Order: sequence, then structure tokens, then C-alpha cells
Amino acid sequence: MRVLARIAPPLLLATALVASTAGPAGAAPPPAKVPEAVGWGGAVASVDADATAAGIEVLRKGGNAVDAAVAVAAALGVTEPYSAGIGGGGYFVYYDHATGRVHTIDGRETASRTADESLFLEGGKPLPFADAVTSGLSVGVPGSPATWETAVRLWGKRPFGEALKPAQRIAEQGFTVDQTFQDQTALNLARFKDFPDTARLFLPGGALPVVGSTFRNPDLAATYRQLGRDGTKALYQGDLGADVVRAIQHPPVDPASGRNARPGKVDAADLAGYQVRRQQPTHVAYRDYDVYSIAPSSSGGTTVGEALGILEDGELGGYDATQYYHHFLEASRLAFADRNRWVGDPAFNDVPVRELLSARFAASRACLISPDRALTSPVAPGDPRNPADCASAGPVQPEPYEGLSTSHLTVADRWGNVVSYTLTLEQTGGSGITVPGRGFLLNNELTDFNFSPLVPGVPDPNLPGPGKRPRSSLSPTIVLRDGEPLLAAGSPGGSTIITTTLQVLLGRLDRGLSLAQAIAAPRASQRNTAASQAEPGFLALPERARLEALGHVFASTPEIGAATGVERLPDGRWVAAAEPVRRGGGSAAVVRPAP
Ligand code: GLU
Repeated sequence: MRVLARIAPPLLLATALVASTAGPAGAAPPPAKVPEAVGWGGAVASVDADATAAGIEVLRKGGNAVDAAVAVAAALGVTEPYSAGIGGGGYFVYYDHATGRVHTIDGRETASRTADESLFLEGGKPLPFADAVTSGLSVGVPGSPATWETAVRLWGKRPFGEALKPAQRIAEQGFTVDQTFQDQTALNLARFKDFPDTARLFLPGGALPVVGSTFRNPDLAATYRQLGRDGTKALYQGDLGADVVRAIQHPPVDPASGRNARPGKVDAADLAGYQVRRQQPTHVAYRDYDVYSIAPSSSGGTTVGEALGILEDGELGGYDATQYYHHFLEASRLAFADRNRWVGDPAFNDVPVRELLSARFAASRACLISPDRALTSPVAPGDPRNPADCASAGPVQPEPYEGLSTSHLTVADRWGNVVSYTLTLEQTGGSGITVPGRGFLLNNELTDFNFSPLVPGVPDPNLPGPGKRPRSSLSPTIVLRDGEPLLAAGSPGGSTIITTTLQVLLGRLDRGLSLAQAIAAPRASQRNTAASQAEPGFLALPERARLEALGHVFASTPEIGAATGVERLPDGRWVAAAEPVRRGGGSAAVVRPAP
């Protein structure tokens, strides 16, 4: 999605004069999407050129990585409204160069304090997934606005309202519809048309937005203006919140559509009670690196970290490509078996974070990997509290379904601060419910809960509960070497986020790829299911037949993830890296290019 009539930073205008096909006369052309940029003064990578430009603008005006990350996130709320924005949540990881410390914010959506394990049961049976998604029931209290405000207040250099201004401008003046936006709208057509407010906004004139046309969202511009002026109490305690609650409890569905959009439970007291959590990051020492990510309620940090631990004593750098992929797939398989058994909201479960990340547990799981034969999934979990070599602890846990929509952004500034931030609505288009008059969609994050226990009789850490956060796969990661930032990375893609982040890290840290090459490389994803998902590019590799001979089974999938990253080069320049092709290509930029 590309913006029109924006104040484009000179560097982007200079490098990329892409003619817009629509919009007011004299409108500034949208910036080009570039998948890699190198230079000084800070770096931004996101899926969207306008969002990346918003971050660069803030860095130029003296903001730091936190201010810029919030600006990018808010801009994504305009141009990627099906994957990001005020109505959702996410996880923010921040490396503070002055102290050398990594901080995190868990801004995950929460269930109502009145929710319980029966949230998605009707007549004792789990609701069909699609019915649950497109309903008020799936909507958790949004955490993104609180995340943004908290991050800027704690670590930013400029007022919160400043960080929202580029997004407000993009919403007012419009961006140019691209193919990805049209495709994502088409995916949602059947349900969007059942909600008049959603249809009015995203189906202009009753049809899909036309590629090349200008898309404006004045309601969202006004919402950002209000948040910038009044702060997020407008949402958590004010009239914006009242509108959100009304939409959740009385989903504004067209009665003639026949759709049963079930009402949700979230009320004003739930909004007023919402708090982000600040917690220690996960940490693993991996070879010469310190890898930091987000602790539960996301399973991202523990699962990427456990897989790295399993791979630590292998010679990934020295393996041939077949053994490298084999070990990557096997480590992912085992780590997923464990996350499904042990990881949920730590406020409700005693999640063994330290034990999952321990070298002893990793060794007990690595013991199961044979160089000659792939394991058969599903494999059983281990017991991180009592690790025993090659042992299993209890029955296998099937892999639950997770959706496919989110956005990851990475930012670095001239002071050496780094942000790795993933935000989401869950499905592409969230619940499908637009808050009337406010210009944004509500999430369906609560369908990330398991609707009923994965294995009857075995404790499931991810059932709904009062005020509980559903388990996530978001994996915003920051890697340090010798106490200095080396790189940050992450991705969308439901539970494949974990394997994509892992694969990018391994490509860069073990396999000699540049960050951009590691992001572009063909992907596969093994998540303790019989077949590993693999992109066509992966299936075309010569190693495919050798992996199949080891027992790996592959199922083709068009695309896995949409990663972004930044890296600091030894001379202090920053690299921003994004996808060259996936999701229509991402957008990387630096403040002062110096390739
Ligand atoms: N809701 C998912 C999670 O938090 C992410 C969905 C996606 O990335 O597509 O793990």
C-alpha cells in the first residue's frame, strides 16, 4: 500500500520516482519498495513503503528507534489495516544502547474478566472456527495503543502524539491501493459485506478497492488525532472505548445478511483494567551470540530459543545443505512438541521458561535427532523440569490451527537503539468488525486460544480464562554480540513465525548468508505435523529428494511469512532488509544511504 500526497523524505524521492496512477494533481509520488538499504543514521524495515517512510521521517526529526517504531506501527494501521492497528495487539522488544539492556512489552489482547473455558463452546461443543472468528466473541481488549503509549513514555524522545502524526496524515490524504491490499480485501469479501460499516470503508461503492486508486480513511485520521491529543485513555476509559464495547457486544451486522455474529463479553471495566505487561525477555546464548526475544504469553521466544539450544552442539555451519535443513526441521519439530504442552499465559500456568531454554533440556531433546532418519510427527513433548535423554513426557499434543496475518517491523537509530516489534489482528481482517465511525477493525485474537483441550485429560495451558492472554507465536528477536546489537528480525505467519524467524537467524548466523539473503531464501516449516510445509522454491532445491530419502514429507504452500530485519555492520552502518517478493515485497530504508 502506498501513500499519496505525503511529505516524502528527499532520499526516497531521489531514489524512486514511481508515478502514481491516481490521486490529486501534484500529489507526491509514493516511495518505491526496496528490499535492502545500507547506510548511516538509523534504519527501518517493514512490509510497507509508506510505513517505512514514516519511521525514517521520525528518525530524521530527532526521534529515536522507539518513536520511529510506533510511527511505523501506526502507519501500518492505515496501510495494512487487515494485519495491524489500534484494534489489535503485539509484542515490543527494545534494546537500549545507553544501558545495554533489552526490555519488552507484552501488549497482547486479553479475554474479558468474565470469560471462562467455555468461551468458544456451544452446547458443550467447540464453535466452528470461522463462526468464532467473525464474531464479538473473538475480540480481546486491544493492546496496541497501550503498547505504543507505554513505549514512547518509557523510552521515546518525543511526545506520543508526534509518533501518530505521519499515520494521521496518511489516513487523511490517502495511499495508493496495491495488489496485495486488493487481494486481502477479496479474501474477506463474503464477510465484510455483511457488516455495513466494514463494507462502507473497505468496499467502496460495494466493490473491491481498485488497484492504483486512492484509499482514504478520515475516520481513522480522527481517531489518531484523538489518541494523540487525549492519550489512550480515550480508548481504555473514554468514548472511543464505549464505541469499541458497543461493537463487541452488539456486532453491527446487517440483519438481512443472515449472519449470526455472536456478541462478545468485553465491557468497559475490561478496557479500564487493561495493562501491558513488562517482563524480562527470553535469552539464550547461541554460539557467539546472545539471542533475546519475547517471553510468554507468546511462545515465540521459548520455541525459537529451545530450537537454537537443540542446534547448539551441531556444526550447522559445516553441515552440507541436506544435513543443515534436516537439523533445522528436526529441532523445530521437537520445540513445537514442547511449546504445545507447556506454554500458555504465565499468569494462569506455571510456564517453565527457564527450563525450556536450558542447555540440559536442549541436550535431552537433541538426543532424539538422528542424521540418518527423520522423526515421525507428532512426537511427544519432553519434560523440561525433569529432562532425561531422549525421553518423552506424556501423550503427543496435536498442532492447533493458527491464522495468517500480522506485520513485523524493525528499527534502529543513530544512537544504537534497536526495536523488533510484531503486531497483529490475528486473521487477515481480524473479526471483520469495523468500529462504526472510527475507521479500524477489531481483532479476533481470542481464537488463538484452544477451544477445548488438545488432548482430553491432559492439562492444556492455552484454554480461555478470565482476563487471560491467548498463546501467541509472535517472535520479535534481537541478537547481540559482545554486548553490542548485531541484528533484529521477525515475521508474520501464524505458528510459522517461529520457524521463519529461526530459519532467518540460522541463515545469517550459521550459513554465511547476508541478512537480506537469509530473508529471501526459500522457506520450509516443520511444526510437529506429519508433513513440513514448504514453498515452491524450497521444493525445487536439489536437497528435497535427499531430505525425502531421510523420511521428510513436504506439503507445498505458496508462501511462508514476510520477514523484516536490521543489522549493524562492523563499521557502524546499518542494513535494513525486507522481502524481495513475499506479500508483494517489503520496504527497507536508511536515514543516509551509503552502500
Ligand atoms: N495470532 C497469531 C499469533 O499471535 C499470529 C497470526 C499471524 O501472524 O498470522 O501468534
